[in-house]
Amino acid sequence: MSIHIERLAASNKAHLWHPFTQMKDYTSGEPLIIERGQGVKLYDVHGRAYYDGFSSVWLNVHGHNVPELNQAIVDQLGQVAHSTLLGMANIPAIELAEKLARIAPRGLNKVFFSDSGATGVEIAIKMAFQYWHNLGVRGKSSFITMNQAYHGDTIGAVSVGGIPLYQEVYRPLLFPSHAIPYPSAYPHNDGEASAGAMETTLNALRTLLEARSHEIAALLVEPIVQGAAGILVMPPGCLKAIAELCRQHQVLLIADEVATGFGRTGAMFACDLEAVAPDLMVVGKGLTGGYLPVAATLATDEIYNAFYADYEAQKTFFHGHSFTGNPLGCAVALASLKLFEERDVLANVRKGAALVEQKLAVLQDHPHVGDIRQKGLMIGIELVRDRTTRKAYRWEERIGVRTAMRARELGMLTRPLGNVIVFMPPLASTERELADMCDILISAIRDVTEGASSV
Ligand SMILES: *Cc1c(COP(=O)(O)O)cnc(C)c1O
Repeated sequence: MSIHIERLAASNKAHLWHPFTQMKDYTSGEPLIIERGQGVKLYDVHGRAYYDGFSSVWLNVHGHNVPELNQAIVDQLGQVAHSTLLGMANIPAIELAEKLARIAPRGLNKVFFSDSGATGVEIAIKMAFQYWHNLGVRGKSSFITMNQAYHGDTIGAVSVGGIPLYQEVYRPLLFPSHAIPYPSAYPHNDGEASAGAMETTLNALRTLLEARSHEIAALLVEPIVQGAAGILVMPPGCLKAIAELCRQHQVLLIADEVATGFGRTGAMFACDLEAVAPDLMVVGKGLTGGYLPVAATLATDEIYNAFYADYEAQKTFFHGHSFTGNPLGCAVALASLKLFEERDVLANVRKGAALVEQKLAVLQDHPHVGDIRQKGLMIGIELVRDRTTRKAYRWEERIGVRTAMRARELGMLTRPLGNVIVFMPPLASTERELADMCDILISAIRDVTEGASSV
């Protein structure tokens, strides 16, 4: 190792605190330090290449170091790097707001910018709450969420989340929400289980709404695919039915499209798959092609109009972030959306998704694969100790972590969700690249589970 790399590794250990990481484990190994990216690959400081098999945690769209995206940032940098949206505007923010309103599900005509998915969710929560307040409706102050939901890591976003591991410690800080079951067919995957799960969800929602809709401001949902829960896919028609129940009971629908938005599922937004038009929609991650931290909360005119009043009425939305509407971020988001059209990224996702499904079919009967879930280029492979009994691996076996490490040795990066191996390649990946990545994934799963079956 060169002196330079040794020094970086030592500083990493001494000063950098990594997210979602037990530092005691992490600092005992040799760190992976990325130096550059090109296309769908990342390169570490030793010059080793890795496929970005999880799109740098579900963000990347067109690959890394894309000339058109780089140029958009350089061009904007020659104008101004940042200027606020508090009481004034900037050119890329205006153009991006117009563009988002045009491509979003029907009715979402107003765009409020922030800088991460979690802040976008906080904004949606506050807007929904204040919407009812501004209308003079009292008591609608709580939220409905799905079990195992993930909406980000700030206190408000954790409050409407549903993953106990991320919530328990902070419980005293969280506001209570109403949770309903997520319609997951696993571990009894067949059409009947899927219909049964959907029934259970809709019945729970109907019962809750009939009893308490007068105290509920909104329902939050990750449309079609629940990401951090382990890539769980809703049965067809479920999102539409949820949306209809909310509308019937005057509860707002907030779609968290942070993970699913911008082509990931094969449609521009997952809501489009069932022609659902939410009242509020949150986007982030892929909005800038995965380049810069920009998020947005989209609202209908009806929501916006409840805040539109004489100054003295105090109906203003008193919320904002320093870097809201950052011109560099908005410029690269515009360039990314242009590439979506020029390169027909959605068609590429659908073609790629079919290929991945075909490739991964060889795992269908693998004794340690319990379930393969997929929507577009969002894939989760659930590893189990025993396929027939669906007996899970013990948590301490870290089967997911070990499989991801093996994939890294074979040249692909990903990060598991417990025992679920996540595969979310950049949307621009070619068929050749996808086939290569699938081969690595299959080998890693075989190597680790077949070697580990005696553990
Ligand atoms: C990642 C994610 C978030 C949080 O976004 P950050 O930018 O990490 O704050 C919110 N909701 C969903 C569905 C996500 O996948």
